[in-house]
Amino acid sequence: MPRPDSLAAGPGTLLVEVAVPVPLDQFFTYRWTPGGADESPPARGDLVVAPFGRRRRVIGLVVAVRPAGETEVTVGGHDIRPLERVLPPAYRLASDRLRLAEWLAAYYALPLGEVVPLFHPPDPGTRRRASRAPTPAYPLQDGTAEIVLSAAQQAATSAALQQLDDGHFGVVMLHGITGSGKTEVYLQVIGEALARGRGALFLLPEIALTPQTLARIVARFGPVAATVHSGLSSGERCRVHEAAAAGEVRLVVGPRSALFAPVRDLGVIVVDEEHETSYKQEEKPRYHARHAALARGREAGAVVLLGSATPDLESWDNGRRGAYRLFTLTDRPVGVLPDVEVVDLRGEQAPDGFSPRLTEALAAELNEGRQAILYYNRRGFARSLQCAACGRADACPSCDIGLVYHLRPRRLLCHYCGFSRAAPVACSHCGGRDFLPAGGGTERLELSLQATFPGVKVLRLDQDTTRRRGSHARILGAFAGARAQILVGTQMVAKGHHFPGVGLVGVLAADDGLTLPDYRADERAFQLLTQVAGRTGRVRPGLVIFQSWQPDHPIVRLAAHHDYAGFAEAELANRRALGYPPARRLLRIAVASRRAAAAQQGVDELAGVLREGLTGGDREVLGPAPGVFARLQDRHRWQVLIKGTLGSAQKRWLAACAKATEARVGGVEVLIDVDPVGLY
Ligand SMILES: [Zn+2]
Ligand SMILES: [Zn+2]
Repeated sequence: MPRPDSLAAGPGTLLVEVAVPVPLDQFFTYRWTPGGADESPPARGDLVVAPFGRRRRVIGLVVAVRPAGETEVTVGGHDIRPLERVLPPAYRLASDRLRLAEWLAAYYALPLGEVVPLFHPPDPGTRRRASRAPTPAYPLQDGTAEIVLSAAQQAATSAALQQLDDGHFGVVMLHGITGSGKTEVYLQVIGEALARGRGALFLLPEIALTPQTLARIVARFGPVAATVHSGLSSGERCRVHEAAAAGEVRLVVGPRSALFAPVRDLGVIVVDEEHETSYKQEEKPRYHARHAALARGREAGAVVLLGSATPDLESWDNGRRGAYRLFTLTDRPVGVLPDVEVVDLRGEQAPDGFSPRLTEALAAELNEGRQAILYYNRRGFARSLQCAACGRADACPSCDIGLVYHLRPRRLLCHYCGFSRAAPVACSHCGGRDFLPAGGGTERLELSLQATFPGVKVLRLDQDTTRRRGSHARILGAFAGARAQILVGTQMVAKGHHFPGVGLVGVLAADDGLTLPDYRADERAFQLLTQVAGRTGRVRPGLVIFQSWQPDHPIVRLAAHHDYAGFAEAELANRRALGYPPARRLLRIAVASRRAAAAQQGVDELAGVLREGLTGGDREVLGPAPGVFARLQDRHRWQVLIKGTLGSAQKRWLAACAKATEARVGGVEVLIDVDPVGLY
């Protein structure tokens, strides 16, 4: 029997359409009845707590409100359920944030409700002040001396300020080698924006890897600046959110999630290291924070500053075509670009991966009392543990990918799904008892260095040594404080640290990554080589050694000459010839299932429907093809690529086709990845 209070709508009762975070492309109707003395009626843009299903409560976004008719109390024979509560005004999505939410949903083919969680902390309104995440103790090397801008810094700053004063959206792109002073430009522009009463957002790729920049910003702007990231407690995140909404915090710094902070009168958005793939969120809701920053900048009439030593090719292309104002900072205010030597590994004796030249250079650096960074993009001890008798090595039972040998603890690990087991005593194929660790890894490098240079302190920075909270900062802090002479690690060592004591950077395998079956493989490889080479020469001339099996490969050569523009021109010509971004847009549809037959049936059906439905324009449907990793985490994977431009109506249709395939073929998951950053 229906509850008596739901039989008729009383005076003042409102019907509220709510976008709820569920994968359904529809809004849900709730009712709101005046009653609570302090509660004002919900309005478009408000966040509300609503019951959903039998016992769930969700946070949804109000999209429309209208007065209820007198007998209007059911929808499709069901009682319209009451809203539980309206969240305080600090959580309302006003103007630019509301339009950003709508843009995200349309652009990324998502139901509006699914983007709502981006716009609020996990438990809005939490009062409990739980423990603060440890602030990394990090030596601040940024001097407090009077700051004198170089001519290039001054020009970029003036352009951004002019844009700010014009009050229109615009993009200023800073292409600057590592150490060329991009951060100072950001800080100048932010300072001026704050002085004009405007707010600012500062996005960094990864908080844990950029403690210096973070410390520098907070030191410069004091209490009007705050950081948000997932390491903070709910209470702390709510406090920052509410302070930003109230206008007390006017600069929010953080990883991609900081983009959604309710900073008022937004004037500046900085996207530092804008080429970094960590700006792409790879779980639902999938979006790219750089692209979303441009959308928010447009909605807020703000200036967006993109900065990188190796800009994303799409950004670079926009810069050279004049869509963005492009500034190149070529000089290092302090230090010079390092010399890069390429060591040909063919025919070299390179025990444990070290050529005689690298070993000699390393010994010389250590003798001089300087530090060195060694980069190798594989963790573990060896790529595989091979049977000495039959040559075979074990693969992951769920991924069809070789297991990596780790020494401490002595186990075989799958780097894709986390599967692990003890290293075998006998070969599972032939029973042989002798094994050879084949290929290298950071763990092996560390041990080899300790053996070659006894008494020298070596630190390792990779996923294995940074599992514990705060361990990143501890390792980086110890190295910056010269409590170790060598830092060895994966691409984590390539990120923006400033170590004045580093005189040598060694890249163990410069051509690693060039063979990945992905149209971005060369771009990634070039970016990494350039970034890692930039870790030296900050104070005095440094030396970089690239060890390579393909010393004449254009990417290795261009990176050795610090020639970004040359790289970009060649690569853009490639992309145009092959029709890849930025020449044409790309959308990836991935189909996965535990059952091989279901995955294939699903992808075949879907590809057929898309081929028929997406004719015309510059569009092209490619595939289906097996994923680069055809089986991962026990799922068989296929993909379809769509090249060309899709409007939001077409994306919506695409999302509906994906849903229909999931409904028709049991056990199949379909995901839509707009502007994928990797094809795997
Ligand atoms: Zn064997
Ligand atoms: Zn696996």
